[in-house]
Amino acid sequence: MIAEVIVDVPSQAVDRRFDYLVPEEFIETMAEGCRVHVPFAGRPVQGFVVHLKETTPLDLQKLKPVASQIDLSPALTPELLQLAEKLKETTLALHVAILKAMLPQAMRSSYKKRLLLLRPEEEKGTDLEALFSGEAAIDSLEDWRKQADEPQRALMMRAVRAGRVQVEPVVTTRDAAKKRVAYRRSATPEETALFQKEQEKRAPKQASAAALFQHEDALWTVDEAKQHGISKAVLETLTEQGILEKTEKTISRDPFEGREVAPDQPMELFAAQEEAFNRVDALIQHRKHKTLLLRGVTGSGKTEVYLQAIEKVIAAGREAIVLVPEISLTPQMVLRFRARFGSRVAVMHSALSKGEKYDEWVKIRNKEVDVVVGARSAVFAPFENLGLIIIDEEHEASYKQEESPRYHARTTAILRGEYYHCPVLLGSATPSLESYARAEKGVYEMLTMADRVNDLEMPEVKLIDMRKELHEGNRSMFSESLKEAMRLRMENKEQTVLMLNRRGYSSFIMCRDCGYVPQCIHCDISLTYHRSSQSLQCHYCGYQETLPQRCPECESSHIRFFGTGTQKVEEELRKELDGVRIIRMDVDTTRQKGSHEKLLDAFGRGEADILLGTQMIAKGLDFPNITLAGVLAADSMLHLPDFRAAERTFQLLTQVAGRAGRHKKPGEVLIQTYSPEHYSITEVQGHNYTAFYEKEMQMRRFGGYPPYYYLSMLQISHTDLSQAVRFTEKAAAFLRERLSEKTVVYGPTASPIPRIKDRYRYQCMIKYKAEPRLYHVLQELMKALQPETAKTDLQLTIDTNPYMMM
Ligand code: ADP
Ligand code: ZN
Ligand code: ZN
Repeated sequence: MIAEVIVDVPSQAVDRRFDYLVPEEFIETMAEGCRVHVPFAGRPVQGFVVHLKETTPLDLQKLKPVASQIDLSPALTPELLQLAEKLKETTLALHVAILKAMLPQAMRSSYKKRLLLLRPEEEKGTDLEALFSGEAAIDSLEDWRKQADEPQRALMMRAVRAGRVQVEPVVTTRDAAKKRVAYRRSATPEETALFQKEQEKRAPKQASAAALFQHEDALWTVDEAKQHGISKAVLETLTEQGILEKTEKTISRDPFEGREVAPDQPMELFAAQEEAFNRVDALIQHRKHKTLLLRGVTGSGKTEVYLQAIEKVIAAGREAIVLVPEISLTPQMVLRFRARFGSRVAVMHSALSKGEKYDEWVKIRNKEVDVVVGARSAVFAPFENLGLIIIDEEHEASYKQEESPRYHARTTAILRGEYYHCPVLLGSATPSLESYARAEKGVYEMLTMADRVNDLEMPEVKLIDMRKELHEGNRSMFSESLKEAMRLRMENKEQTVLMLNRRGYSSFIMCRDCGYVPQCIHCDISLTYHRSSQSLQCHYCGYQETLPQRCPECESSHIRFFGTGTQKVEEELRKELDGVRIIRMDVDTTRQKGSHEKLLDAFGRGEADILLGTQMIAKGLDFPNITLAGVLAADSMLHLPDFRAAERTFQLLTQVAGRAGRHKKPGEVLIQTYSPEHYSITEVQGHNYTAFYEKEMQMRRFGGYPPYYYLSMLQISHTDLSQAVRFTEKAAAFLRERLSEKTVVYGPTASPIPRIKDRYRYQCMIKYKAEPRLYHVLQELMKALQPETAKTDLQLTIDTNPYMMM
């Protein structure tokens, strides 16, 4: 048996399959999708078995054997292996980088493994029991292998394959499994029965507890025993009596631990929901792939449609993936899935520890769950019978991974949907222009829910021209009408969400006399002012310096902080509104695990009048008492050098506006802006997505941007400025020579941030309508530059679907 292995060496030069011999020992367990250790260039490296075969054109004598098998059952399914090849073609990433991205972090590095005897009672007297020397576990597979002989190893492998033994990674102490004290029966069944009889009259609680512990599987923590009506005192007494004994139990690191989730029932759908649901359901029932775009205004009940469609998928014995942006993966959102599907849901988001993420992944792999709700990387959930993939807030930029492999969750989901013949449902109140254009052309199917449920009105949106406020002498960061509106809410015991749009709103310092702005000495970018440490920091390389008292250029002492942070807003709010209670949510207050959740819970209980925050409060909040949403600096990201700036502004403002008046009480939205005439802001006022779409599409056509054209971005960086320019020129010439005439190659130009960490950055943009040879030509370019990247300091990155224009 010969294995084709992709080795974990991050280099273009070895980005191909290598043949290895599979030694006798692993023949029975080796499978495609397993990770292995192999000797490579004189050292052991990790690799993925992507194919098994019987022959090789190479000299068998020279073939090296696989050193060890890391996964005894495959980590990746055949479908995921195939998906990796497709993604490699379009993202141009290293094969191994994609394979690794499909696995939870804990599995990306090597870990120690232990062996567990799954049914010790059934193994009494077997050879296998002897291998375990009477214990239930072998703590280190690696150590055990060293001292075991060949037949013993073969026996163990067979047992693993037969499901008698389980291999578990031993996660490091920080991620270690949670252990709790637990009680089990130590007396024999006969002794226990006798005890029960004796105590029946005198101590009935002890008697009934003893009866419950008669069951083989009874191994309960104090909490679990309580659920069976057994108190801690009774547990202790029975232990003293020798009926029970104390031991340990591994608790699954359930992210919902300690939270009661009350089950809920499907709601009766409104007509528009029903129509959308029926379309999805028809595809589920007929096992047909199609991509559907559900445009439903905020509060139109999209989530209920998702939930009921998933129910159908589960009823059909299949599985569902639900992707939500990290930022809206709020406890509130997850709870809705928990309430409907209970423990059949796995949750994957970045707040989980490595160990927790791994646990969730195992649940999916072991088919203990039917649904996963997670951020971008959950698109790789190793389900093998998918019936539906949902992408909520499909327009979110976070679905695109901005480091290699630069995949987009949407395209990845569609590839999986094609494979499993299942629908992919994209949902949004403000679809990306790309998706909406596709739906208009009939490539995707368009579903629309134009109204909020329960005949709720969309909130009234008012634009406030901050230039006028200034003219009228108001120098505060709040307009008179916003102040008044917040005051009114406090009086009425209603709540306000207030968003400070900080994206693109740099908080730099500037000399008011000469205009000097401190810059990073390694990167061509302004330093950011950090209030807490009174320092200036670079957000790209981490460089820090102390806050200058005087301008280094002109010695003026009028060197001051520009821009606004949430802390500053909070201070101002307290000055303006007497006795106001504020909950602030930003990176500083949500750094600790679970703090996000705590703050939202507190707000939900009415412990604050105002929830003040950055973008992270724009999504997913659903509190009945919010009747006012305010936005400070609505246009702050309108002027970024990015063709999607208007689209992002419209999307964000629509999201925030959607937080107000979602239940009985009508909502109001106040947007403060310096560009009250820009269509990305005025169309929010009319809740008019299609009007915004039409105008923005015109702009894209004029500018030659997506969705009219496709873009690819090539970036070259070098510590030497002239080399950076030279190689980018070379690359541009290479591309121009090989791509079709209609394709335009722009550049080389300096990147919007021309230097990061002392590396000079140049770029070329490729713009095209149809370029079938593109991926091939880009591959060739990578090959052509490969000797240079290996030898010199040159770095080349290619993004075939760029989202960050910086
Ligand atoms: P969206 O995801 O489109 O913003 P949600 O699914 O959060 O909307 O629904 C908004 C509100 O309407 C929620 O409080 C939800 O419980 C409620 N809702 C949704 N569908 C129904 C229905 N069919 N009947 C009654 N209430 C509903
Ligand atoms: Zn100065
Ligand atoms: Zn820097």
